[in-house]
Amino acid sequence: MSDTARLYIDGAWTDGSSGERAAVINPATEKAIGWAAVGGAAECAAAVAAARRAFDGGPWSRMARSDRQKLLRVFADELRSREEEIADIIVGETGAPVATALNHHVRVPLGHLDHYVAQLSASDTRPLPLQVNPRPDGTSWLGGSVMVYEPVGVVAAITAYNFPFYLNLAKLGPALSCGNTVVLKPSPDAPLSAALIAEVADTTGLPPGVINIVNGGADVGELMCTDPRVDLVTFTGSERVGGLVAAQAAPTIKRVLLELGGKSALIVRADADLNAALAMGLNSFTSQAGQGCALTTRHLVHANVYDDYVARLADLAKKVRVGDPADPATNMGPLISAAQRDKVESFIEVANGTGAELVAGGGRPANLPQGYFVEPTVFANVDNASQLAQEEVFGPVAAVMPFRTDEEAVALANDSNYGLGGAIFSADVGRAFELARQIRTGQVHINGGSGASPGWDPFGGYKRSGLGRELGETALADYSEIKTIKFHAG
Ligand code: NAD
Repeated sequence: MSDTARLYIDGAWTDGSSGERAAVINPATEKAIGWAAVGGAAECAAAVAAARRAFDGGPWSRMARSDRQKLLRVFADELRSREEEIADIIVGETGAPVATALNHHVRVPLGHLDHYVAQLSASDTRPLPLQVNPRPDGTSWLGGSVMVYEPVGVVAAITAYNFPFYLNLAKLGPALSCGNTVVLKPSPDAPLSAALIAEVADTTGLPPGVINIVNGGADVGELMCTDPRVDLVTFTGSERVGGLVAAQAAPTIKRVLLELGGKSALIVRADADLNAALAMGLNSFTSQAGQGCALTTRHLVHANVYDDYVARLADLAKKVRVGDPADPATNMGPLISAAQRDKVESFIEVANGTGAELVAGGGRPANLPQGYFVEPTVFANVDNASQLAQEEVFGPVAAVMPFRTDEEAVALANDSNYGLGGAIFSADVGRAFELARQIRTGQVHINGGSGASPGWDPFGGYKRSGLGRELGETALADYSEIKTIKFHAG
């Protein structure tokens, strides 16, 4: 199954009415490692209809939370028992290094799923304050109300290529635990890990129609957004497509959750532990070959330590082991596709012509003629107004620039259309906390952060980085309708 991604609709596998198949390419070898059936209008309509039936007719949306919890517990446990297999698929379809694949791509989202399964132990009803209401005759009655979380309905989930299993679970976890049914469209670049999720849903007995998977591109995504039977669209991808998704969903007043791009800042104060800052700095553009939404690829470094930081970052970048992602010794794999590599190379070309100083990389690794590899690349003295500092590269390119005061660092960090992530390194943690409060982003890591990604930490963006939050309490509200029931309490 792991080299095949058929469509999964209403609890049955299909190759779709067109019979079209798309090859799944390993970006490290440029060779096909499998294929995906490609859906179209008929499959999209059938999947939405199945999800609608499963929602409206039950039992999923109406079953006791404890029963839904039992089914999701079995589903989550079975996924966990196959974590190494999933990691292998991720390495093949995305080019993520194997250790990253197993941990960040697979174990972290399985932890998030556990969180959503566990939260089903809590009630979906919250008491609200009682009120004493006076009557005209001088007596009074006691009024009460409760807030009830109910599922929204049919959720259309559309995901990006860079963390496919993670992102698919980030949507399935809250959607399903709240009692919604889902039509998932994975990225056409990474459909295999999604098919495995459907396989596990099938074998562990999730009712037909609760999870449906339709592979395809923009046409299928657009149909999911415009279908009036869909109640909520949850999207992870680029700012450009996020805007399209919002517009496509608008005429039918669907709720839209958007997890979009970023151009996050890493602030290194003069008193920072430079080794720690450099470790995160290197990771910020080489992890996942720079294809991470919240990576802090804009390095703002205090002038007192700037030259040292730039020299050491360039040195570290040159030592990154780039190559076969299946080799545990590899630090950085390829980009997802030739098109993505072209895009990254065009950023490098533009940056070279704008006065930024190339201090590491800038080309393709000479020893890797096959695969969509780009060298870890560092530009110093980058102008924050330049394309390199303002636009998301989604490749292994760091932009470094100096600052002199905290106020300047915050202003530079906030001088961005995006607002997803951020990081501050400083020996003065209290001051770092104050600065974190001034940065207009959905999350900020101080001195490397907590080192964990628990299911209760909300994740999402300010400004053009998105709408809504994944994970945490807030996600439960995002994937629920909230009803107030009011009554005489006495
Ligand atoms: P993309 O926007 O090109 O595609 C995302 C998904 O949208 C794909 O499944 C694609 O087929 C689909 N799509 C394309 N056109 C559509 C349309 N008109 N209507 C509906 N769906 C459509 O993004 P990508 O290249 O796959 O991923 C990279 C982007 O994702 C980056 O910008 C990155 O920052 C972002 N991202 C954000 C987060 C986050 O949590 N904020 C996480 C991962 C990736």
